[in-house]
Order: sequence, then structure tokens, then C-alpha cells
Amino acid sequence: MAEAANHRGNVVVIGGGVAGSLLAKSLQFDSNIVLIDPKEYFDIPWTDLRSMVEPTLAEKTLIKHSEYFSNGTIVNSRAIDITATEVLTEEGGVVPYDYLVVATGHDVHLPRNKTDRLGQFKQDYEKIKSSSSILIIGGGRTGVELAGEIVTVFPDKKVTLVHKGERLLEFIGLKASTKALKWLKSKKVEVLLGQTVDLDSVSERSREFKTSAGTTVSADCYFVCIGKPLSSAWLRDTILKDSLDEHGRVKVDDKLRVRGQDKIFAIGDITDVKEFKLGYLAQKHATLVAKNIKLLLKGEKESSLAPYKPGSAMTFVSLGRKSGVGQLPFMTVSGCFPAMFKSKDLFIGWTRKLMGVDP
Ligand SMILES: Cc1cc2nc3c(=O)[nH]c(=O)nc-3n(C[C@H](O)[C@H](O)[C@H](O)COP(=O)(O)OP(=O)(O)OC[C@H]3O[C@@H](n4cnc5c(N)ncnc54)[C@H](O)[C@@H]3O)c2cc1C
Repeated sequence: MAEAANHRGNVVVIGGGVAGSLLAKSLQFDSNIVLIDPKEYFDIPWTDLRSMVEPTLAEKTLIKHSEYFSNGTIVNSRAIDITATEVLTEEGGVVPYDYLVVATGHDVHLPRNKTDRLGQFKQDYEKIKSSSSILIIGGGRTGVELAGEIVTVFPDKKVTLVHKGERLLEFIGLKASTKALKWLKSKKVEVLLGQTVDLDSVSERSREFKTSAGTTVSADCYFVCIGKPLSSAWLRDTILKDSLDEHGRVKVDDKLRVRGQDKIFAIGDITDVKEFKLGYLAQKHATLVAKNIKLLLKGEKESSLAPYKPGSAMTFVSLGRKSGVGQLPFMTVSGCFPAMFKSKDLFIGWTRKLMGVDP
């Protein structure tokens, strides 16, 4: 523990997503803090699919970093290297740290400006609105939720969902995925399981899509909804190169410190914590690490740091606005309960309140 008591300390947070933005907000009055993120805003990821069919919603779901983080420095760039004392950015910046938090989650190359991101949602909306038939490739959380949003707002569109697995939503129980399939079929979504579409063979001009099973799907437009890679490949050239597991996740100890490092923490989806990868758990990581860094900055002993307890296996998938499926530790729920919990407002009010911005 190198910090003198009550030294404000330089804290650097890499990644302004669900975890990093909350951490930056929580520590801004206790440290000299720098938030490094390529975007000027925090995007609530699970609301993006609804913003594609209701683009005005995005005004509330894209929160500029400056709205919740007024007492720190924002560096709009991508981190490309970490040394024992500094972070290097793509634009040539060198940012020194006493404590570092890696929160780079998933590699989503979104526009730098909020206005351009709003423009993307409007384009998606126009594309959906002007199409009679839509193909969704991927039947995980993103594909299923997007299908649910489209059929809710545009019930007359012909939606086809192609998924390579034998069931939708393989990360949750069979009962929940069967219920999601039943709901989609009740909305006339055609679901093709156990099939893939070769992404190299399609372009924006494609109107016919051949699946691996030989089925031809006609669609005026398509959306690729396959899992986004973690943003950890860049760590392979840093001092954390030996801290990645075989999936590219950062190995952390029970205090969420990168294994073998006493001044570097990792939080959110990028970590190897054995639990569902979820935003509310990423926020739990952020809250715990903020608390532990405050203790370290006050010169408290290592033994006073709080340990992290992995979250319970609970997750919800929305199906439009009035339905959903949910996986709880010992049971599956469907219908209006998950809808009340998630689908209705997608936790937008709650998240804005957590970030301290107007509801
Ligand atoms: C369709 C869908 C629905 C979901 N529904 C829910 C739900 O209902 N409830 C729930 O709790 N969770 C849900 N999730 C999961 C949730 O979105 C993730 O768990 C959460 O976003 C993880 O947060 P994170 O901060 O770790 O990463 P992210 O939110 O991915 O943020 C990572 C940030 O790091 C930045 N970044 C990346 N690389 C670099 C770099 N090199 N330098 C600087 N910055 C970088 C990115 O710009 C981004 O801002 C859902 C996800 C999806 C896709």
C-alpha cells in the first residue's frame, strides 16, 4: 500500500460503459480521476434495441459523460497500452495512475458523438419501417429482444430469425427459451433453428439469404445479432498479458483486483468472475471497487478491503413491452412479471437515477 493517508491519488478508469461510468461517478470527489472512453456518452446497452424502433427514446438512454461526471477529466480516446504507471491512448495521450480500473467490457465501435449515435438509431428505424420483411441473424438475447421490439411496433412486418443453436437463448434454462419461442411464433415470427447464414455472402443489397440448411429467406433488410467480442485483445500487448484466461477474460481476485497486481482492478463483463455477465452485476462490481479504492486512498490496510460475492443467477429477457422471460436461481418466470420488471421501461428511470441525472 503506497498511498499516504488522505492523498487524493490519481485514479484512471478505462471504459465508460455500465461499470466504468458508475465507478467514475462514484470516485469523482475522492480522487483525481480520469475516464478514458472513445465515446462522449454512456449508452445503456440493453435499451439499444428499443431505440431502433423508437429512436426518440435514445435521448434518455445516451447520457453524456459530462452529465454525471463533472469533477474529473474525460479523455475521448481508446486505451492501447498499460505500463506499471501509465495508460497510453490511441491519440498519443499518456495518463499516469496510482490506481487503475479496467472496465472495457465489449468491443462495440460506436460513434464518438451522441448526435451521430442518435442518427444511427434513426437510420435503423427508417430501415425497419420501410421494409416489409426483415431477417435477424442470431437468436441469443439481442436477436430475440430485437424481434420482440419489431413485432410490437410493426406487427405487420414479416420477421424471420435464424439461429445456429438448437434452441433460442441458450444461456438460460430450456423452459425459458421454449416460452420465448412460443411467444415469437404467436407473433408470426418464423424461427429457423440449427441453421446459419454465411455473413461473408451478404451485403446491404442482398434480398435473398441462403441458410446452411439450404433454406432461402427473402428479406428487404437484415440485422446481425451475434455476440460481440470482449474488448480485451488490446491487453495482450500490456503488462496484463498474462492475466487473461483462455476466453480473453481478465483474471481477478476476490477484491476484483487483477491477479498479481495490487493497484489494478477489473470490473464488469471483462472479468472472469463466475456469474452471469449482466449490467446490474457490473454496477455491483463498480460500487465495491469504488469503496475499496476510497479505503486505499485513505491509507487503510489491505485487510480492510471488502470482498466481492458473485451475484445470483437471475436475468430477464424482454419480449416487446408487455411480456418477457426470466431466469431466477431456482425457477423460470414468463409473461407479465418479467415485463413489469424489465420490458416496460428497461430500467431507464432507475439507471438515470443511479447516475444522478434527471429521470
Ligand atoms: C440485448 C442485451 C440485453 C441485456 N439486458 C440486460 C438486462 O436486462 N440487465 C442487465 O443487468 N444486463 C443486461 N445486459 C448485459 C449488460 O449490457 C452488460 O452486462 C453490461 O453492459 C456490461 O457492462 P461493462 O461496463 O462491463 O461493459 P460495456 O457496457 O460493454 O462497456 C464497455 C465500455 O468500454 C469502452 N471500451 C472498450 N474498449 C476500450 C478501450 N480499449 N479503451 C477505452 N474504452 C474502451 C466501450 O466504449 C464501452 O463504453 C444485456 C445485454 C444485451 C446485449
